Amino acid sequence: MKILVPVKRVIDYNVKIRVNSERSAVETNNVKMSMNPFDEIAVEEAVRLKEAGKAEEVIIVSIGDKGSQETIRTAFAMGGDRGIHIINEANTEPLAVAKILKSIVEKEDINLVILGKQAIDDDSNQTGQMLAALLNWPQATFASKVEVNTDGLKVTREIDGGLETLSLALPCVVTTDLRLNEPRYASLPNIMKAKRKEIIETPISDIGIDFSPRLEILKVEEPAVRSGGRKVADVDELINVLKDEVGII
Ligand code: AMP
Repeated sequence: MKILVPVKRVIDYNVKIRVNSERSAVETNNVKMSMNPFDEIAVEEAVRLKEAGKAEEVIIVSIGDKGSQETIRTAFAMGGDRGIHIINEANTEPLAVAKILKSIVEKEDINLVILGKQAIDDDSNQTGQMLAALLNWPQATFASKVEVNTDGLKVTREIDGGLETLSLALPCVVTTDLRLNEPRYASLPNIMKAKRKEIIETPISDIGIDFSPRLEILKVEEPAVRSGGRKVADVDELINVLKDEVGII
């Protein structure tokens, strides 16, 4: 089995997001960037399947500017085998990402694609679903457990009010939820080894897909500043405040 894991470089989840001065996007200059957390979980799952003898190769792909190579190398240090960097200086929307992934799946003869359930920058939660539709493959989104059996995959998903278990034939698409696993820290020897692994670079214009934007961002705003809380002495005072000051009862 050959597994493809798409990893996106996003603003690190610990960074406090700021809107840029043009109010057109969030500020990414001089901001720490990292692998999308759900993609780390996807890499970990793929590497575990390889370590368990269920997969032969884990191919990492990232679409973005030259910084994406660092993200691919992070995935190598976790156990990814080789990488593909599709160069696009501009933002690539989920539909274009899905089309690129489809072309790689077909070229590389991939059996399983494990993506994050969403990228924490655009929060789209679309790419995996679009890819499955374009390939006409079965999909299991928000996976919290993945097991390989003779028929394909058994995937447990967290849904409202419980767990759902799906049985899927390979080839298929899986997207990861937070509880699927805990990604490993890369060891120093593996970080060193990651430097020697191969990354093939291709400009997005060479893929032969329409990647023109479908969405227009009108403006980006900071959330309204929350006013501070206040303590009341007892329930009577609370009721009076809600009645007279807030006016909700
Ligand atoms: P989204 O649909 O944008 O929320 O992203 C869902 C998942 O698609 C991410 O967790 C990644 O696995 C993958 N993905 C989205 N954009 C990219 C990108 N530019 N490069 C690589 N993978 C991506």
